Amino acid sequence: MARYIRNYLLLLVAAAVLVLAYNIHLAENRPPALEYSAFLARLEEGGIRSVTMQGGEIAGTDTLGQPFTTFAPAPAALLPRLEAKGVMIAARPEDNTSSFWSATFPVLLLMGGWMFFMVFQHKGGMGGFARKQLPKAAAARQKVTFDDVAGIPEAKEELVEIVECLRESRKITRLGGRIPRGVLLQGPPGTGKTLLAKAIAGEAGVPFYSISGSDFVEMFVGVGASRVRELFKEAKKTAPCIIFIDEIDAVGRRRGASGAEGGQDEREQTLNALLVEMDGFRSDETVIIVAATNRPDILDPALLRPGRFDRQVTILPPDVKGRQRILEVHARQVVMDPEVELFEVAQNTPGFTGAELANLINESALMAARKGKSAIQPADIEEARDKILMGAERKGMVISAQERRVTAYHEAGHAIMAKLLPNTDPLHKITIIPRGRAMGVTQQVPLDDRHAYSREYLVNRITILLGGRTAEELVFREFSTGASNDLQAATDIATRMVCEFGMSAVLGPRAYVTAVEGFLGGAGRQRPYSEEVARTIDREIDKLVADCYQEAMIILEGKINYLHKLAEVLLLQETIDGEEVDIIVTCPKVDEAAPAGQPTS
Ligand code: ADP
Ligand code: ZN
Repeated sequence: MARYIRNYLLLLVAAAVLVLAYNIHLAENRPPALEYSAFLARLEEGGIRSVTMQGGEIAGTDTLGQPFTTFAPAPAALLPRLEAKGVMIAARPEDNTSSFWSATFPVLLLMGGWMFFMVFQHKGGMGGFARKQLPKAAAARQKVTFDDVAGIPEAKEELVEIVECLRESRKITRLGGRIPRGVLLQGPPGTGKTLLAKAIAGEAGVPFYSISGSDFVEMFVGVGASRVRELFKEAKKTAPCIIFIDEIDAVGRRRGASGAEGGQDEREQTLNALLVEMDGFRSDETVIIVAATNRPDILDPALLRPGRFDRQVTILPPDVKGRQRILEVHARQVVMDPEVELFEVAQNTPGFTGAELANLINESALMAARKGKSAIQPADIEEARDKILMGAERKGMVISAQERRVTAYHEAGHAIMAKLLPNTDPLHKITIIPRGRAMGVTQQVPLDDRHAYSREYLVNRITILLGGRTAEELVFREFSTGASNDLQAATDIATRMVCEFGMSAVLGPRAYVTAVEGFLGGAGRQRPYSEEVARTIDREIDKLVADCYQEAMIILEGKINYLHKLAEVLLLQETIDGEEVDIIVTCPKVDEAAPAGQPTS
């Protein structure tokens, strides 16, 4: 494509030069311009022989035969005076063709260029114009090793064998052994799939070719396939080596699954080329293809056949120990205060992937640097974590005193629920500093990475979510819009309890949802149950939420003094951590205080 763009640019420049030259030529050959008053003076003294008038523009010759031009503000009024002096007058219609052309020429040029583009795009292919300029297949030597990959020991273990194969490829093939061809790494984004692939190459000391499935998506017919062939050809020359295909689902989606999707042919051609190449290795060519995806379910089964990606390694987000290991790896690159306990950081970051943990360390370093510190302290990590989880603090936001009060009660309501209900996640902190889109935040951090939830836990979770709105109702007798997210979340949990987890006594242990939106061309969700059941489901969800609301109301009414106290402290110091909440909520003094209808602050 570059060649064609260059040609087109050249054409454009040439045309621009021409236009310019033409205008200069016009300007140079234009007779000297006279001031209108000078022209009038010459006319009065009888010095003008003839004029040609085109609107206000006048070109003429004087009695000495010298050409001139001038511009008349009111040409019609000039006519009688010209006649009086016996000047020969010619007139032309105002439409000036030469200026018409110089005005239109650039536009035509642009349109021409655009058509040129379009035509070539459609031709595509054959080394074509529209080929997306991908970096030429080039291997990179990797410095990454398994030491840089932490917290996913099982995945590493499985891949050690691949490294061995690459190192010992000659020996293995000489003995007639078969080298594994493809490894599919599957797992959510940021769990270290790319990193692992690089580490394999790094450990084995072999070249690493990398390409992303999404690169192919915007390309034109035939290009993806030829690009695949090119890549494999290059790779074979430097075998043993690794080809890494990121986001393989972009090309490897099962064929013919979703009908009228644009670029379908292209994708299928690319996929076919890939399959052909994978099958076409000679037994002594050790090229191992490592592919990554977070959607193994949509891959074409042909990709997973023996001899292709027949090895699959699943990578899950790390657990506490894993997170600690990953944090340790990334902490090596920054200066940590000895105060920092990475195990604690790991405990407070459930669900974080490797990429998010790397980001956490990086953000902490930025926080510390901004404050002019020489090492990262626990407070910096806390702040960075909050920023990642909840968005940056919105420092400049203007909040009315009333909004602040409502928010304080709202968050205090959540906090009291979280503290007083059994079987809930520990309260980490509450704050009324607005973050992201939230006015305030009540943060609970699970003790462990939970995978199964009890009914009690879920019911309490709903009650906690409703606690904010309940507090607002109790104290202000009205609600703010701030509770809408809570209501949504509470409804979602209730819905899943009834429909997915079989936790409704009336409906019994049955799932009332079909499999998620299918691969079969988006048939959508179907309801495999009657209208009657649908109504019962609705009723059950309603009842669940209503019961929780009732429960929240009863608890808060009983603990109204704690609610006032917590809100008061929040308004004063904006943030309260879990332990402080503990102290306030268990303080008998607060409970004894005379019930205050309205708080003092
Ligand atoms: P994926 O390919 O799964 O989306 P990446 O390999 O691109 O994830 O991860 C992005 C970055 O996150 C890596 O460069 C690395 O800094 C960090 N990271 C992810 N997982 C790990 C891990 N297990 N150990 C150490 N660092 C990790
Ligand atoms: Zn809330």
